[in-house]
Amino acid sequence: MGTNETLPDSLLDLLADAVVVADADGRILKVNRAFEKATGMTLSLVEGRNFKELWTEPLALAEGLTLGGHPQSGEARLERPGGEIKHFSVNLTLQEGETEPRLLAVLHDLEDTEGSASKVGLDALTGLPNRHLFHDRAEQNLLNARRAAKSVAMLLVGLDRFSVLNDAFGHPGGDLLLKEVSERLKKCVRGSDTAARLTSDMFGLVLPIAAVDDSVIVAEKVLKSLREPFHIGDREVVLTASIGISIHPTDADTADHLMKNADSAMHHAKAKGRDQYQFYAGEMNEKARKRLDLEQRLRRALVAGEFVLYYQPKIRVDADSLTGMEALIRWIEPGRGMISPADFIPVAEESGLIGPIGHWVLAEACRQNKAWQDMGLKPLRVSVNVSAHQFRDQNLIDKVKQVLRDTGIDPCWLELELTESMLVGDIEQVVSRMRDLRDLGLHLSIDDFGTGYSSLSYLARFPITTLKIDRAFVRDVETNPFTAEIARAIIGLSRGLNLEVVAEGAELVEQVDFLRENGCDMVQGFYFSKPLPPAEFEARLRETTEKEAALKVQAFG
Ligand code: C2E
Ligand code: MG
Ligand code: MG
Repeated sequence: MGTNETLPDSLLDLLADAVVVADADGRILKVNRAFEKATGMTLSLVEGRNFKELWTEPLALAEGLTLGGHPQSGEARLERPGGEIKHFSVNLTLQEGETEPRLLAVLHDLEDTEGSASKVGLDALTGLPNRHLFHDRAEQNLLNARRAAKSVAMLLVGLDRFSVLNDAFGHPGGDLLLKEVSERLKKCVRGSDTAARLTSDMFGLVLPIAAVDDSVIVAEKVLKSLREPFHIGDREVVLTASIGISIHPTDADTADHLMKNADSAMHHAKAKGRDQYQFYAGEMNEKARKRLDLEQRLRRALVAGEFVLYYQPKIRVDADSLTGMEALIRWIEPGRGMISPADFIPVAEESGLIGPIGHWVLAEACRQNKAWQDMGLKPLRVSVNVSAHQFRDQNLIDKVKQVLRDTGIDPCWLELELTESMLVGDIEQVVSRMRDLRDLGLHLSIDDFGTGYSSLSYLARFPITTLKIDRAFVRDVETNPFTAEIARAIIGLSRGLNLEVVAEGAELVEQVDFLRENGCDMVQGFYFSKPLPPAEFEARLRETTEKEAALKVQAFG
């Protein structure tokens, strides 16, 4: 094709594929008749609109196109005026126009499997890209990934024992099965990812990923979706697949090499018993397996009631008295013993399990605290760690309200610990969310302060009551003048902002002395106590209650 400016409309209209001509910014100038037919939208409806806005999801293309450079391709969906969703492959180039560069988009209706399908690189039966187009898409993904220093995953999905099914149901039955498989695969990936049919019973996926876990998530989705029974006529058929995964840049740098490695991983998956995925790199299998195993055990742990809360005392250093506590989760798994939150909280975060777990922690901490108060023990404020996932939850306020109501605790005895990393992004929104929490009457603190990257200038805007100095600034405070300077600065800052300040992780008397001398109100650390199981904490709280009652009697007597 020559430059599109010189391509007469009559010729454009002869093309079977939908064509959009836009200026370099994406503003639509022209569409052909095939476009109008495929999308149900006439030129008058789309003229002047931005090409990128035609789609149901933002198009991850068109950035970084260069004049006469490599075309970009992907898949995208748009909604016809009647509401019907159409799925297209999109091929974009930036071309020389008569006066200015022109964006030329060729759209191919992926549902339309008749006609010139194989010519544009589509598999005639399923309408998915074929092996050639898959290869192109993979190269394109690699190119983009290299530019952005990102990763790409290739998954080869081989159907298990397909030939047996094909023989049993005959070719028409087999074809139906393959069409249904391709529909399910498409639903497992985003519109900008590629799902292709490579051979009679092997499919391929290629997708940009942020982390290897992203490919695990897709592989699991595919296995799960294929395990659902298929229906051929009135027969129910069960099908499984074996998936091989290779990753750029770890495993390969070219599309061919990625394919070769994914293929060998797929054979490994078949050899290991089918209906599973395997990475090309062995250590990733091990990591993925461990993570999945932990996730499944976590799911069970919540139901089986394997979590408990420990309580670590917070001590007011000027009076040496117990004045608060932090609730810290512990997982006691039968047969394995105690598992540290550092090992399972990150997995709970990633899998979304932190939602229910965090809710349990909040409810249990409030329940326990109220129970101690009802026993007549000295009332203490309990602080509870809130994860990023919980803080983003739209229903957080309602959930906290519900816990307050259910347990009957006065909100002034509850503190939520947030970390700096949650307080970035849309500051207005973060502040308003914090204010909503404060309005309930509870306290808010920033945990691990000093390790995050929140700007100090924001600190004054956050409606917090407490700052917790991270252990890193307490650990060697008595020997390292630099650390001491930072600790002093944070204490000074909190005083200036009228915040209560708690130092975490004091283990030595010298550290406690330093903190006291420099005006730190409260200390939480092994020097005073490790986190304690409820019964031990209760004993300590009773001791404090009795001692302080005796002191009062002395003072008044
Ligand atoms: P964190 O909130 O900063 O909790 C303080 C951690 O420091 C606790 O570790 C505590 O045992 C430890 N620590 C306190 N004093 C000392 C000391 O003097 N020396 C040393 N070496 N360590 C000290 P833990 O209980 O293992 O918890 C680790 C992290 O796991 C917590 O850090 C918190 O981020 C997270 N976590 C714990 N429970 C929960 C929970 O219920 N929900 C959420 N979202 N996160 C939790
Ligand atoms: Mg904490
Ligand atoms: Mg902390």
